[in-house]
Formats: sequence, structure tokens, C-alpha cells
Amino acid sequence: MQVTLDKTQFLAALKRQWQGFGLQQAQDMTPHQWWQATSAALSEQLSAQPAPEVTEQPQRHVNYISMEFLIGRLTANNLINLGWYETVNQALKEQGADLADVLEQETDPALGNGGLGRLAACFLDSMATVGQPATGYGLNYQYGLFRQSFKDGQQQEAPDNWHRESYPWFSHNSALSVDVAFGGKLVKDAQGAEQWQPEFTLRGEAWDLPVVGYKNGVTQPLRLWQATDVHPFDLTLFNDGAFLKAEQKGIDAAKLTKVLYPNDNHAAGKRLRLMQQYFQCACSVADILRRHHFLGRKIQDLPAYEVIQLNDTHPTIAIPELLRILLDEHQLEWDAAWAIVQNTFAYTNHTLMPEALECWDEKLVRSLLPRHFSLIKAINARFKKVVEKQWPGDKAVWEKLSVHQNRQVRMANLCVVSGFAVNGVAALHSELVVKDLFPEYHQLWPNKFHNVTNGITPRRWLKQCNPALSSLIDETLKTEWVNHLDALQGLESSVEDAAFCQRYQQIKRENKIKLAAYVKQVMGLTLNPDAIFDVQIKRLHEYKRQHLNLLHILSLYRQLRDNPEMDMVPRVFLFGAKAAPGYYLAKNIIYAINQAAEKINNDPLVRDRLKVVFIPDYRVSVAELMIPAADVSEQISTAGKEASGTGNMKLALNGALTVGTLDGANVEIAEQVGEENIFIFGNTVDQVKALLAGGYDPLKIRKKDKHLDAILKELENGFFSNGDKQAFSLMLDSLLGGGDPYLVLADFADYCAAQQKVDVLYRDRDEWTRKTILNTARVGMFSSDRSIRDYQQRIWQAKR
Ligand SMILES: *Cc1c(COP(=O)(O)O)cnc(C)c1O
Repeated sequence: MQVTLDKTQFLAALKRQWQGFGLQQAQDMTPHQWWQATSAALSEQLSAQPAPEVTEQPQRHVNYISMEFLIGRLTANNLINLGWYETVNQALKEQGADLADVLEQETDPALGNGGLGRLAACFLDSMATVGQPATGYGLNYQYGLFRQSFKDGQQQEAPDNWHRESYPWFSHNSALSVDVAFGGKLVKDAQGAEQWQPEFTLRGEAWDLPVVGYKNGVTQPLRLWQATDVHPFDLTLFNDGAFLKAEQKGIDAAKLTKVLYPNDNHAAGKRLRLMQQYFQCACSVADILRRHHFLGRKIQDLPAYEVIQLNDTHPTIAIPELLRILLDEHQLEWDAAWAIVQNTFAYTNHTLMPEALECWDEKLVRSLLPRHFSLIKAINARFKKVVEKQWPGDKAVWEKLSVHQNRQVRMANLCVVSGFAVNGVAALHSELVVKDLFPEYHQLWPNKFHNVTNGITPRRWLKQCNPALSSLIDETLKTEWVNHLDALQGLESSVEDAAFCQRYQQIKRENKIKLAAYVKQVMGLTLNPDAIFDVQIKRLHEYKRQHLNLLHILSLYRQLRDNPEMDMVPRVFLFGAKAAPGYYLAKNIIYAINQAAEKINNDPLVRDRLKVVFIPDYRVSVAELMIPAADVSEQISTAGKEASGTGNMKLALNGALTVGTLDGANVEIAEQVGEENIFIFGNTVDQVKALLAGGYDPLKIRKKDKHLDAILKELENGFFSNGDKQAFSLMLDSLLGGGDPYLVLADFADYCAAQQKVDVLYRDRDEWTRKTILNTARVGMFSSDRSIRDYQQRIWQAKR
């Protein structure tokens, strides 16, 4: 099954590459050329593999549509999944190059913001690995998520040009291009039917990246659409002077797929964003139908062969797009067309937070997509009858469930009404989807709702990022665990094996030294590998509460100043997070952490017992360095706000102990590892609801807690900001006068108590190590292979 790499052929391909650079010998390549040449040679060898025989698949083909795929570096990942790493390592060594160094040259393709995009990447890896036929559909952004740096503690953003035009893993097939129409108006034809006369057309080009299954010979595409003009240069228009005018009608095609919107868990509501969504959906639906027709299948049978999984509501417009094609191009009757649509789409909900639930202005939808708007209204009118039957005369229920209300189109409602399945991404979240977000929909269609707890691919998040621990596991288990992660349970008995524990501990220490070297190189700071490495890495968001972490750090700092001889285990607090450029409060929190870091790291009294490090430009490759080095994993969101989290899973798998709230997948992690092997703190979902309903007042908490009051005063009086009393006012106003909507102050005391337990436990090195090993051993269920099998059983292949 596994495809083999012929070293001689690989070296010949490599030679063609450096000759193509105009060089005399391999040794003349720059480090970056080494990466380029190696990857291009590998890509060529992979494409040259004979395509597996096309056989009738028993399963439906999954079309995973997502605005984001945060794939991270591909070359290392493909080498591991192909099983070619050692051969290439050897081949490069003979040429005088070091493969590990070469792989470091790759710029992360950061075509996503955070968890949602990374989940899509893990799912593609797992679908290829478990043999689920699938195509990933996304956009080929010219600029990925911005690059972050800090200037005087403030976040700076720079464009991330990842040079898609020379990315060696792409293959482009111009026969797959799709033309997509926008704008214009509806006119009635002779039969009185609506006809769409669009205003302008853009072309989508298909750029494919290979998604390689783990040592099973499977390669399937991640197809990324890139916009170009339909007529790049029309001479007749040019000659009679109409060229510029014609151009002005539409938009500059290059603009459409230029940038990824940098918001995480927040809808932007911009015209260009809706254009991106429609462009991606129109290209993808056309591609799915082309494959269906090519295989000689009838349009009525579409749902028997294809499923379209929508990763959040961003690709919802695919629903009216398929309906439009069935009605207007295939001339199906409404009922037949609607049945096909309803049996094809499934929707994954990623958040309950109102600001993230997409609602589009009807004027925008109508002007850009008049036919789709008309179809959405038709769907809604039919749905109204269903609601009227269930709740006769109940206006309030209808206003809640309607797809089109207050001059807005509600994408989540459209998904629930139009699809056959809706799922949340962790047990708690799925429960809240049913109880709080969609209770009436659940009453209407109880069987539509599912849970599929998220997962992470163990190929990247253990084998690739933590090779030393992977080797220890190989030696200990003597079985293939990378695609059977439950096998890690076999490590449980190793906690009694002193030699194993010592090696496990030693590996963690070496990973910490590696991270320390990186921090030294990029930030000039020296870290002590014997300190606790306490890690919070995720997007910067109020609900994720990096400021709660900060308040605890400031508490320790005050205690150290009050009592310079205080006995504490040295601790390094490491952060990695980008804030959306327009999210000023989040940027203010970054500034506060950086200013605190500056003060604390330079205070001789602290004597290196406390260090604060905000690593710039957090991204997949930085995560791969930080996660294996973490002792403590900070998962401290307000209960009910984090749908799942996946960073929590990566860190636990690599032997970090979680300090966390009962939120998202933390709940299931606690169940798996056992409550004695995790530090759970804080208000629960029900307590959060009760607090917010009962007139929660953060000022009362401040008044009662002298220590907390003193910390807040230091933030207010310019102690950390050279006397600037306004420096952190965005953050402080939200916490205090703003009512503290994320209950930071309410959870502060319990959080500090949990952190105190961490300090105590870490002193018992054997006990700590035992618990970290049990974390690794017990989180096998968080493999995304398991998530994909859940999707297969509960959604994609389930009998309906
Ligand atoms: C896993 C991952 C995330 C998601 O982290 P959460 O803690 O689940 O929010 C975000 N960004 C990157 C680069 C990741 O690898």
C-alpha cells in the first residue's frame, strides 16, 4: 500500500531542480533553494506514482468546504505520511545538506486564523488516513494571516506573502476552471419564471495541494480556488476605449482572493467577504457536479454519492447555489430539487457567540446575488408553513426561527433548515447548541442534531513535532500507534517503570531547551529549563481570558515584592497569540502582557523566579515548537464560550497538565485523564449563567479582595506603563466599569488556588511525571481519526 521512493530517481529530480536554478552543483544552492528543490522534487515523485485504480466506493464522497485551511508546513508532513523521511534524509546527507535544516526554510501557508482552520487541516489528514474519500475546498489567498511583531509592546501587522506562485506542492489544472457570475438583476421570461442576468463574471482557477494519508498510498486533493479575470485582455474592447469602462463594472479579480479576513470568531459583514464566500461555493459546487456527471451519475442520485460538509456558516451560500443550479439549469421541480439539497448538506456549528453568527444585510445579498436572495425567500416562505403548523399563531417563535428577519439573512438558520445534520464540536457545546441556540429547531427535528468532538492529527501533533517522545513510544509499545491512538493506553503501566519515567522527563527537558534556544534567538531572552513552562497559545480573545492569566502573574509578582524570600518553583509564562487588527481591546491585552513582561523580566528582585515571554507571530510551526516543551496548558475560557478547543488536546497529548475551566473539550479531557490529573477551576456553565442573570458586579469582588485591588491599582496608576495611566484602559474598563462580561474577576481567586496546586505538585517530580505520562496515555480519543469515524457513523453514512 505504501508508495516507495526511489532514491536515484529522487536525486535525479533534485538535480533537475538545481540545474533549473542555473547552478553548477547542488552545493551552490541557498538554504531556501534547498527547500524549494527538495519539495519540488518530492512533489514530482509523488505525482509520478501510479494513480490507484478507480473502484466503486461504498462510501459517499465528502466535500469539506471551509474558508480556512491552516495547514502549516507541508514538506515535513508529507515526508512523514509518505514514509519517505529516512530515504530523503539519507539522500540529502550524501549531498551535504541536513534535512531538518532544509525543512525549517518553509514559510507556513497560514491560510487560516486559528482553531477552525487548523481543524479543517487535521480532518483532511485523517480522512486520507482512514480511507474516507474526500476533497477539501477552500480559497488560495495570496496573503495568509498577517505576520505579527511587537514595537514597544504593541502588536504590529505586516502582510504575509507566502509566495503561492512558487509554492512547490501546488498542481494547477486549467481544465478545472469555473466561471462565476455576480450582480445584475432578475427578469421574467415568457413563462413568468425568474431569469438572472448577472453583471460580471470572474474565473476560478483550481490549485491543488496533495493531502497524503499515513502510509496507505492515498493522496486526495485540497482544492484551493484562485480568482482571475475571465478575459485578461480583450483587444477589441481596448481599441474602442471601452476596456477601462468594462473593467470598472466588476471588481479587480486579483482583489477577490488576495487576503484572508483576519477575524476569529467574529463576522466581518463586508461585501468583499460575501463575494469570497460565494466565489468559493460556486466553484466548489460546480466542481462537485462536474465529477458527478463525469462518472455518469444521475442528478437525482447526488446525495447517494456526495455529501457537502459546511465548516461553520461561512460557506452557507453553497445551499442556494446548488438549489439554483438544480432549478434553473437542470429544470427540476422545486420538491425534487429541495430534496436533493436537503440530503446533501450537513453543517458544523463552531460557536454560540452572537457576534460570530453570520447575518447578512439583505441589500448586500440582493445586489450581489439577486437569484440566491429570491431562493432564500422562497425557502423561508415554505419553512414558515412548517413553523405555523407546529406553533400556530406564535409570532415570537417565527421571528426566532425565520431565515430572513429584520432585513437580514441568517446563515445559521439557513443551514439548519436546509441540511440533514447539524453538529457541535464537543459534548458540552453540542448540548448548548440544542438547549440554548436552537431549542425550537431541535423540537422540530430532534434527529438532525449530533455531537462530534473535535480531534487533532497525531501525525503532526506528536510524531512530527515531538520525535523524541514518538521514538520512546515506538520502543515501548512496539506497535503502530500513529493511526491507532487508543494504543497509547499501553503506556499506563509504564508509570511504574522508573527508567521510562526518567526518559519521559528527560525528553520534556530537552524539548524545553530547544524552545529556550528559539526564544534566545528571536527575543534575546534566556530561559531556565528547570522552571515550569506555563503555556497559553491561541487567538487573543476576551473569552479566552489571557488577561486572567496576566492577573495571576501580577499576583505572583506582588507576592514576590512583599516577600522576596517567597518559596516558589521558578515559572516561565509563555504566550503566543495574534489579535485581529481591528480588535482594539485584544490588542490592549497584548500590550498589557508585554509591558508587564518588560517590568518583571528586568526586576533584579525577581531573580528569574518569574519570567513572562510573549513569543511573536504565533503560527503552526511555532506551535510545533512550544507544545512539546509545555509543562502547563492554560485552557481558561469562560465556561460556555469555547466550543471545543484543540490546543488543549495537543498539549495534553504531549504531556502538559491542563489548568482549565469546565468548558469545551476540557470536560471530556478531564473525564479521560481523571480529575486527579488535571487542574479544574472556576464557575461552571450554570454558575456563569446564574451570575450574569443575578446582577454580577465585578466591583464588589474587587472591594472584598485587597490583593486583587492592589494589582488592579498598579495597572491603573501607570506602574507598568511609565506613568501612563490610560495605557490599559480598554482592558480595565471592560473588567470594571464594563461589567466584566467574561467573569475574569469572578474566577480569579479559584484560578490562583489552582495555580498554587500546580506549584506544590511540581516539586514532587516523580508524581508530576506520572501524571503527565497518564495524560499522554489517556487522550487517544482526541485523535482526529476518531472524529472522522464519528462523522462517518453519525452523519455521512448514517441511514436516514
Ligand atoms: C491548534 C491551534 C489553534 C487552536 O488553539 P485553541 O487553543 O484550541 O484555540 C490555533 N492556532 C494554531 C496555530 C494552532 O495550531
